[in-house]
Amino acid sequence: MQQNSKYIRLAADLQSDSIVDGPGLRTVIWTQGCLHHCKECQNPQTWDMEGGGLVLISDVLDAIDELEFQDGITFSGGDPMYQVEACNIIAKYCKKKGYNIWVYTGFTYEEVMKMAKKNKAYLDFLKNIDILVDGRFEIDKRDLNLLFRGSKNQRLIDVQKTLKEKKIVLLDEKEYMEEHMFKREPMYI
Ligand code: SF4
Repeated sequence: MQQNSKYIRLAADLQSDSIVDGPGLRTVIWTQGCLHHCKECQNPQTWDMEGGGLVLISDVLDAIDELEFQDGITFSGGDPMYQVEACNIIAKYCKKKGYNIWVYTGFTYEEVMKMAKKNKAYLDFLKNIDILVDGRFEIDKRDLNLLFRGSKNQRLIDVQKTLKEKKIVLLDEKEYMEEHMFKREPMYI
């Protein structure tokens, strides 16, 4: 997919208040375009690299400014890695606003690191990601009991620890959920 520094190709509007794409209340950015074509993918309408719509990145940032009561931002799709530069601009902005960032990709972490050798933008993007949910959806490894992912081959990778320790560090799911699910003060109406 050709990348234009001003635009991102999205499959849908930003979706706020998701509770299934990472911990807490999250806003999901549905990127358009995926070449992995996993069997029984739930979002095949996001595969077309020329589908969805081109949206100004500045409009996405404006929409992020309008968010309320969100704990984090999740990039999903499609596969955000096909628009790494655009996603990185948005991720960097969200990070500055204090959001934690989750990214779903069909690439494995190792594949992303390989791509980073040719294009530094991948490494820059990783530096702004808290958790990477990596790997293709594999129907024969589907497990409905997994936390925030569909198949057993997919991993919840703590990206910052992984970069620091130069080896894959998986998320401590229990500790992370306690920290991120219950941090908000109760809201009274
Ligand atoms: S990587 Fe995700 S969006 Fe792409 S085909 Fe696989 S499940 Fe579908």
